[in-house]
Amino acid sequence: MTEFKTLDDADVTGKRVLVRVDLNVPMRDGVVTDRTRIERILPTIREIAEKGGRVILLAHFGRPKGKPNPEMSLEPVAGVLSEMLGQPVGFADDCVGPVAAGIVEGLKDGNVVLLENTRFHAGEEKNEEDFVTALASLGDVFVNDAFSAAHRAHASTEGLARHLPSYAGRTMQAELEALEKGLGAPKRPVVAIVGGAKVSTKIDLLQNLVSRVDALVIGGGMANTFLAAQGVAVGKSLCEHDLAETARSILKAAGKTGCEIVLPTDAVIAREFKAGAASETVDVNSVPEDAMILDAGPKSVETVIAWLDKAETLVWNGPLGAFEIEPFDAATMAAARHAAMRTKAGKLISVAGGGDTVAALNQAGVAGDFTYVSTAGGAFLEWMEGKALPGVEVLKA
Ligand code: AMP
Repeated sequence: MTEFKTLDDADVTGKRVLVRVDLNVPMRDGVVTDRTRIERILPTIREIAEKGGRVILLAHFGRPKGKPNPEMSLEPVAGVLSEMLGQPVGFADDCVGPVAAGIVEGLKDGNVVLLENTRFHAGEEKNEEDFVTALASLGDVFVNDAFSAAHRAHASTEGLARHLPSYAGRTMQAELEALEKGLGAPKRPVVAIVGGAKVSTKIDLLQNLVSRVDALVIGGGMANTFLAAQGVAVGKSLCEHDLAETARSILKAAGKTGCEIVLPTDAVIAREFKAGAASETVDVNSVPEDAMILDAGPKSVETVIAWLDKAETLVWNGPLGAFEIEPFDAATMAAARHAAMRTKAGKLISVAGGGDTVAALNQAGVAGDFTYVSTAGGAFLEWMEGKALPGVEVLKA
């Protein structure tokens, strides 16, 4: 099924293996505050080291704009990684040049070293040939384990794969296999849930989905734009009135492809957006002028659940309401728990991604029950938009 090579195909023993990983971890005052991303890359590092490869880790951190910036150094990450791996992790304070070459030279089979932030060099984001060549000179083999950076054609994500024999790491492999199940060759019916604040950030995604899924549930603030485009008065709700035409064209496209668009029929409204604000449930056609829609109502949730019961596959990005504040989390929590329950029962393949979606699934306590939850933000969205990701395409070549 996979069109790309994996670690199963790689001979890493005694080789210098350049491994692109995602270490863009939350950090405060030089302390790593969330280890999820580091956790995910351990299997690939361990496997290469156990096979006798010399692991040379490449990653970016923040946006230093092509210049060294001590605040965006990866050095603090090396210590945490070492602790989690249970073996020493060396650190080179430059990812190319004599410092990096010297450290790589001294590596023994099974050793691990982390090189400094690739974005300290302008050649990284520009994918400059000289910089790619400098990086490539440090390794014999390239392994990309950073799906989250694969939507960018940078030196360490795309350039290197053109210079060295290249393979997907285990985390990248798992991500690509899950995404293939989600939209590549999914079991039908496929239902997509797309929510969140705005239509404007998800136009390409909606346009792609209407041609690929059987039902598209639209929720969150963006549903208001669709309702308003159909003449529903949404009061003070978050709504992009200037996108009415776009919303109508998406509805029209869905009509042509036979994709059922599922919009809320009732809503939880309030006058203020704060915890404990007085709220009530109304029909979407009865939203008072001074109120705002902050969540989908129980009838709408029933419809979503009925679709989840029919579906073989679910792809989800974006919450159904303003889930950060109670009681406007109810629709998102109910849908998340139902999808998790169907998945655990072996009835549903569920793939979800995007920062807020991961937070919502964690809040519902079900992230671990989904088939796959992607922590990649931009790359996951571009995949949902149907775009080719340069860092993935080059692995298939
Ligand atoms: P996004 O980043 O586009 O996925 O949007 C996520 C954000 O949309 C979350 O912070 C939600 O609180 C917000 N959101 C969802 N539904 C609504 C709504 N009906 N009104 C205002 N904000 C909402």
